Amino acid sequence: MRRLRRWGCIFLCLGLLWIGGLCVAAQESQIIYRYVSNSGQPRIALTFDDGPHPRYTPVILDLLAEYDIPATFFVVGSNAETYPDLVRRIYTEGHEIGNHTYHHNHVSKLNPEELSKEIALCNAAVERITNHPPKLFRPPEGVCTGALKTICGATGMTIVLWSVDTRDWAHTPVREICQNVKANTANGSIILMHDFIGKNSPTPEALRHLLPMLRELGFEFVTVTQLLEG
Ligand SMILES: [Zn+2]
Repeated sequence: MRRLRRWGCIFLCLGLLWIGGLCVAAQESQIIYRYVSNSGQPRIALTFDDGPHPRYTPVILDLLAEYDIPATFFVVGSNAETYPDLVRRIYTEGHEIGNHTYHHNHVSKLNPEELSKEIALCNAAVERITNHPPKLFRPPEGVCTGALKTICGATGMTIVLWSVDTRDWAHTPVREICQNVKANTANGSIILMHDFIGKNSPTPEALRHLLPMLRELGFEFVTVTQLLEG
């Protein structure tokens, strides 16, 4: 009996070590994408965080449609539930939808259980509206933790940050945004913008200049997933 118990303990310890190993492996193998360059025609991905929002998202969608440009929207789950028609429009117009948590809480302030719930709730909200759960995740403010990497690794979500920050979130003047983007965009760039930042967003006006400018520079616009697929 005592021997059986000893073997039981050994198997339990081995089991825990194995699970621990899986978690570490999931965490270590989780790549965080900031840009994805390729050897062909230079391609870039525009991304919009924090929406959808009735004031800015439709204007941005109109501009993208005018230039026939796809983008990726990292939506906040609670906003998606409040404005399902906007989510539907984003999806039906051929854009990609990523997960930006349900409440836009800072990742480092959540325990692993709360973080899992934030990601799952946002996925469920988007899936209810589009029938497609997001596969991409962008943490608020780009903060990545070990727990986040483990959860994304275990649930098959890809973490995507950015290589060009337009700083539209800081109400940067349009002219400055355009100069910054022109100077820093390269093959494979992922560009950070927002379709909700409170009052007087410079984003739509900046976009009006950026779309023709970047096209003129020879960049092809793709969604983040298309960029990742090479
Ligand atoms: Zn955000």
